[in-house]
Amino acid sequence: MFADPARVRVAVRLRPRNAEELVADADFPDGVELQPELKRLKLRKNNWDSETYQFDEVFPDTASQKRVYEVVAKPVVESVLDGYNGTVMAYGQTGTGKTYTLGKLGEEDCADRGIMVRALEDIMADTNPENDTVYVSYLQLYMESIQDLLAPERDNIPIAEDPKTGDVSVPGATLIQLKDYKSFIGLLQTGEANRVAANTKLNTESSRSHAVLLVSVLRCFHSFPFSFRFSSNENGSRNSRAPVIRRSKLLIVDLAGSERVDKSGSEGITLEEAKFINLSLTALGKCINALAENSPHVPTRDSKLTRLLRDSFGGSARTSLITTIGPSPRHRGETASTILFGQRAMKVENMLKLKEEFDYKSLCRRLEADLDKLIVENERHVKAVVDAEEELHDKLNQARSRVAEAEGKLASALGDTEELRRQALHHVNDIKSLEKKLEENAAGLNSQKEVPEQCVADQLTELKERLDKERLTQLVKKQIHMMVLKEKQNEEILNLKKKLDEESKQRKKREEEIRNLRYQLAQSNEDAEIKRIEKGGSGRSSFGSDSPLNLHRPNILRDTINGQRATIAKLFEQVGLQKILSLLESEDADVRVHAVKVVANLAAEEANQEKIVEAGGLKSLLVLLGNSEDETIRRVAAGAIANLAMNEKNQELIMGQGGITLLATTANEAEDPQTLRMVAGAIANLCGNETLQVKLRDEGGIKALLGMVRTRHPDVLAQVARGIANFAKCESRAPTNAGHRVGRSLLIEDGALPWIVANANNESSPIRRHIELALCHLAQHEVNARDLATGGALWELVRISRECSREDIRNLAQKTLNASSVFQAELRRLHVSY
Ligand code: ADP
Ligand code: MG
Repeated sequence: MFADPARVRVAVRLRPRNAEELVADADFPDGVELQPELKRLKLRKNNWDSETYQFDEVFPDTASQKRVYEVVAKPVVESVLDGYNGTVMAYGQTGTGKTYTLGKLGEEDCADRGIMVRALEDIMADTNPENDTVYVSYLQLYMESIQDLLAPERDNIPIAEDPKTGDVSVPGATLIQLKDYKSFIGLLQTGEANRVAANTKLNTESSRSHAVLLVSVLRCFHSFPFSFRFSSNENGSRNSRAPVIRRSKLLIVDLAGSERVDKSGSEGITLEEAKFINLSLTALGKCINALAENSPHVPTRDSKLTRLLRDSFGGSARTSLITTIGPSPRHRGETASTILFGQRAMKVENMLKLKEEFDYKSLCRRLEADLDKLIVENERHVKAVVDAEEELHDKLNQARSRVAEAEGKLASALGDTEELRRQALHHVNDIKSLEKKLEENAAGLNSQKEVPEQCVADQLTELKERLDKERLTQLVKKQIHMMVLKEKQNEEILNLKKKLDEESKQRKKREEEIRNLRYQLAQSNEDAEIKRIEKGGSGRSSFGSDSPLNLHRPNILRDTINGQRATIAKLFEQVGLQKILSLLESEDADVRVHAVKVVANLAAEEANQEKIVEAGGLKSLLVLLGNSEDETIRRVAAGAIANLAMNEKNQELIMGQGGITLLATTANEAEDPQTLRMVAGAIANLCGNETLQVKLRDEGGIKALLGMVRTRHPDVLAQVARGIANFAKCESRAPTNAGHRVGRSLLIEDGALPWIVANANNESSPIRRHIELALCHLAQHEVNARDLATGGALWELVRISRECSREDIRNLAQKTLNASSVFQAELRRLHVSY
């Protein structure tokens, strides 16, 4: 890299011999000898004499494009990105590699990419489209006329200079904003195609024009030597500074060939034209000389090129000059003049000037916006503080009153604690005296123990002695007896064996019979329970007779049941009820199960019911229902209770003995649908008692009934529906006036209506029938009408009155609907023709 950044950097690059030179100069050494390690170049005067020149860098013909870019141009590009103007120029005889060095696109081989391409790559990589903008213009200067290489029709474009800043610009030139690096390649291609190439003898590709690539970089930084801090905004805090805009430009100038036009022998060019062609380059040389000599006057105005370069070459800009030379000794003169041009340029000092300005206007706008935001926030904040203070004040007052309350409680708790402590002391004394007594008792017990133990031991010895004597006597007797009966022995043994066989056969037969009887007994117990439950209800309100379960029972089974019942009746007579009931409390679970089955069976017969109740059977059954963990016992007990509950007197007794609570508990806990069916049956029977309605409801009977619908078992649901129908029927019979409740149905109070409505059209006919009746009964009281109408029951009633298969129910529903003014009004309101 160049050591001193404050001077124009000058490098020299030697082009490799071309095909022509390889032939023409085959016998001659190169006109120059390079010492790249010393950054020196020796220009051969003749075979024995040469002049040595020092450069900032000396590139041999083998130097890569990459290294040339990095040494010559990259520092300038970086400086441009930092906000300084910069220029990279190639100066040299036509055909020495200026365009190769600067403008090679490297499309075929990326290693060939020249300075323009690489510089733009670096610029695009370092800038970001959010804050930075990169513009490109590509100009050609020929015969003192600036032409737009991106729009060749734009010719003779004037150069503008800002009188204040001295910034030079070409406002008439196309300014293309670069979005990506690829678009730049396209621009260069367009430019190249448009470039006027003047063919000379020296190189048909050489150019008489100067090509200037102008890259303007506009960067926006949010940095400022001093900063304002803002207390809050959406990011918490932000450094609000005037954005700094840096404008800088990079000029990459591919100068026209440095050889004199007249010498090149261009045909058809007048002397005047030749002067014109050389003017800019000559002026550049003059300016460089003036700058190198630190002359107060630099004649930048003499040519378009020097005017264009005024703010970008030497002085305030960073500048690199690459001088290109050919190896041929035949062009020694041109090579020497190029080297001298470079040497002069090395003396030109730079005064770097940062091209940045502050965007105060936009800062001011932003500050104002921030201020407004702060005002709004402050206003909100003040309001929030006031609100918070008020809230705190309220809370403080509340807390104070709570503290006072707690103090009061504490004082009374302290009093209680003292009392408790006193009591505890008392208890401790009691325990101590009990312990003492216990110790005394234990001592007494130990002393008593010794006597019987001794006594037993003595007796045991005596018994042993006697046993020994007895055994001896027996043995002697047996021996005598055996001797006497020896001959008869065989015969008798045979007889005995026969008898034994006979007896064991008899025993087995009897055992078989007992097993059969037991099985039949169990069967008959369960069947009897089922039958009685389904018959259910008090005499006045039995809706259970239509249950499908007790219809079509086979005759054989019925006979068996009757047979078993006869057996049980016999048992009842022989053993006695008292004895059977006492077995309900047996320790043995099996015995309890059998006993409860027997009792249930007895309870199925109306004739036995009174006796059972009198003997305390109802109470025992209730106790079993409440205490037993055995599902069978609970099921059978509930069945027996249900049977007993068919009788009005028993219903009162069941209620009186807390039966409804026990049934409700079982209803909540049991899971077996058959148990629930029995419980629901029992409650359903109780529901049929007008005098017990309020008590039944108060003790949770209706809730228990409704709770059991969770099983969804149709048998259980049928019993629930029967219970509801019984209850509703009783309610409908109760007078609405004096002495009785006048409010709406307790069923509605306990939330039965939704289930009733939902099941009014249940596919199971027993359930449907009970509910249809229940609805008709509920609808009897006008006080229920409003709930029925809003709860959806009105529609069910209408349906029942139209569709119910049973005529009596259909008529009842019709009558009910007609009688209710609420229903009539509602139907009218809904335009239901009825
Ligand atoms: P100028 O622009 O100075 O007139 P060019 O860049 O057109 O010269 O180069 C002339 C010829 O020499 C071109 O064919 C170019 O490819 C070749 N050339 C120039 N410099 C080099 C180099 N360093 N290595 C290989 N070939 C080069
Ligand atoms: Mg060229």
